[in-house]
Amino acid sequence: MPSAQPSQSRASLLAAKSGFQRALRAWYRVHARPLPWRLNPSLYQTVVSEFMLQQTQVKTVLPYLARWLVELPNFAALAAAPESRVLKLWEGLGYYSRARNLHKLAQAIAHRPAPRTPAEWQELPGVGPYTAAAITSISFGAPAACVDGNVVRILARLTADATPYRDSASASKAFAPLATALLPAANPGDHNQAMMELGATVCFRQNPLCLTCPVVKFCAAGQRGDPENYPQLAAKKLEQVAVTRVWIERRGALLLHLSAGGARRFANIHELPTAAQAGLTEAAAKQGKLLAKKRRGITRYQITESIHAARPTATLPPGLVWVPLTALDTITLSGPHRRWVKEILGGKA
Ligand code: SF4
Repeated sequence: MPSAQPSQSRASLLAAKSGFQRALRAWYRVHARPLPWRLNPSLYQTVVSEFMLQQTQVKTVLPYLARWLVELPNFAALAAAPESRVLKLWEGLGYYSRARNLHKLAQAIAHRPAPRTPAEWQELPGVGPYTAAAITSISFGAPAACVDGNVVRILARLTADATPYRDSASASKAFAPLATALLPAANPGDHNQAMMELGATVCFRQNPLCLTCPVVKFCAAGQRGDPENYPQLAAKKLEQVAVTRVWIERRGALLLHLSAGGARRFANIHELPTAAQAGLTEAAAKQGKLLAKKRRGITRYQITESIHAARPTATLPPGLVWVPLTALDTITLSGPHRRWVKEILGGKA
């Protein structure tokens, strides 16, 4: 079948806009997962869940959100909490700047009327266009469309848009006008959530469920049977990085690196020190027994971390702290380091 031009597909989708909105809304009412921020909505819960959901899957967020709401049930409680408590509750979710920004945001709005427009929310720490649109459309009915990777995927398929995009940021920018044009005047927050839900539970990156999709009759790619061809995003160039870390244990305590309060990503979070942080050369560190080798991906980096047993230098460099093994549960360790420490201690037991 000849392929339609994206502009034609966009035009036909917009011509059928109210049918599309109705079909999506009817499906969402029946099929939306009963997530806590939907069952019992409040501005606070929406804001906290949106921060947690940035870069993190729903199933990972659920237990964290439940704990968080018990300990810090509102903006005032969060604003008054010490940062160490906030980071401890966030431990394992990663991207800790989100926790610090959420803390600062609560301090900025806890004792004044909450802002209501996307522009005002974007002035607050950690709030970009997507989060501002989600918060204000859901909590205040603001006519702001959410555009993330899920929404781009759906819109690119609905319109069979084969334009090559450099990255997801440029694709989001290109699809923002269409997302806005499809937004209904009534309940834009529900529409945004329905689009996200469709992306998360039906319009999968691979093997989308077109046969049961509520909007298949509006979808150019779904009808042509080639949805996985859209969107056309350039493959990410991955960079390989190798990190050597050391395990230094003495008299029942483990040597950890604690980033200073001003550090951008890991302020006030403990990690196993790198060779350099422990005052050792890479070569010297690698002479120690290899205890573990771990691979992980962070954004465009593929990182291989080797953890070697080592001895402390005569004078410890700044930033290192001895933490008794019995106190490890009380400090904030970054998520992967918590798992590695547990695994290495388990292997020694
Ligand atoms: S028909 Fe298929 S490709 Fe189109 S929106 Fe639905 S699941 Fe996605």
